[in-house]
Amino acid sequence: METKIVLKDSEIPKTWYNILSDLPNPPAPVLHPGTGKPITPDDLLPLFPMSLIEQEVSTQRFIPIPDEVRKVYALWRPTPMYRAKRLEAAIGTRSRIYYKYEGTSPAGSHKPNTSIPQAYYNKMAGRKRIATETGAGQWGSALALAASFFGLEAKVYMVKVSYRQKPYRRMLMEAYGASVVPSPSGDTQSGRNILAGDPDSPGSLGIAISEAVEDAATREDTSYALGSVLNHVLLHQTVIGLECQKQMKKAGDYPDVVIACCGGGSNLAGIGFPFLRDKIAGSKDPRVIAVEPASCPTLTKGVYAYDFGDTARLTPLVKMYTLGHDFVPAGIHAGGLRYHGDSPLVSQLCHEGLIEAQAYPQTVVFQSSLAFAKSEGILPAPESSHAIHSAIVEAKRADEEGKEKAILFNLSGHGFFDLAAYDDFLAGRLVDHEHPESKIREALDRLPKMEG
Ligand SMILES: *Cc1c(COP(=O)(O)O)cnc(C)c1O
Repeated sequence: METKIVLKDSEIPKTWYNILSDLPNPPAPVLHPGTGKPITPDDLLPLFPMSLIEQEVSTQRFIPIPDEVRKVYALWRPTPMYRAKRLEAAIGTRSRIYYKYEGTSPAGSHKPNTSIPQAYYNKMAGRKRIATETGAGQWGSALALAASFFGLEAKVYMVKVSYRQKPYRRMLMEAYGASVVPSPSGDTQSGRNILAGDPDSPGSLGIAISEAVEDAATREDTSYALGSVLNHVLLHQTVIGLECQKQMKKAGDYPDVVIACCGGGSNLAGIGFPFLRDKIAGSKDPRVIAVEPASCPTLTKGVYAYDFGDTARLTPLVKMYTLGHDFVPAGIHAGGLRYHGDSPLVSQLCHEGLIEAQAYPQTVVFQSSLAFAKSEGILPAPESSHAIHSAIVEAKRADEEGKEKAILFNLSGHGFFDLAAYDDFLAGRLVDHEHPESKIREALDRLPKMEG
């Protein structure tokens, strides 16, 4: 039995898998923030090129990956899948644990799987510039990389607390040629409004999204790009799961459980949707598990309702699990998982029982992360560590039940830019933040009131 299961370059998928074609129920319409009526593709044109809007609503099962995009994917894809034998031995489980490693991309995470096609389609549509937001900087660096490959300018609104505390990701973005400002910034009306009320605002993902959307909406030459949540982003990420299906076949196995951490839902969709296709078709019955931090428990404690994607209420209204658009999560180290909402597709599948959700506090997550680093050698991103912890919990549960399971998780990125988080953990400075129920109820009282 091999430890590392690799594919040939020719096995990079030629199409993305679109789960919209197989949904048991149609998705809830996306609504215009002003009128409350369903939006049309034309409403989105100031923000996105038509090719991406078409992917957003397409119901075609397989969508071809352009050759130019596959060529860039080939710089690091296909990514390896490992059998975690040393981790299995370390925790003494009888289950088989596999992980797909997306940290081999130039930006160190799964995010270039979508930043590359997004930059490509924008280039094809004649746009010159892309505006986006970033929390801890993973999405910003993936977009800066893609913009430089396709000769586009990139402007990144980076949540101010991360801008100050995590300078290395900013430096990486600047090395790729992007311009980065701390958000809230003085460059947009949304930013100036926040600063007028609170000059020391630490910022949030919701605020940074408002700034990037406003930037793109007010400039002809500029598009907006989002690193998660939207249907086309999840679509692009399915290269992960499509490769994994071939790799599991090579390993002569099929996962009983497929696990990923969940911030906006893109790496979960990436590894999970191709396997969910088998589940929906009834040919297999894998459990698909989304893992989130206890301090930002969107799927496990939020409500399934229409809400805005940003703080300034500029984005369309989407039906999703949400903690409220003005929710500001605790400053935990898994910055990529601190979003108030979730992908509408992941939310719907969770609501309909096809996906399960779990939440864990960060200290047990870091313990599992170090157990993984010591046995498998890779230092995981704090986000990805949530998936590792769940995989260990599931393996131990199977042992207690006297079962042997095949458990597959996505290692969405490496943690080389997160060493300060590990330092905090090792020095005993990390505390757990359980998000209080009362705060959740307050934020949910401020959800937009929908008719009917
Ligand atoms: C951004 C990020 C996440 C969270 O985003 P999803 O859209 O939920 O995948 C998880 N892991 C890593 C390494 C990230 O960079």
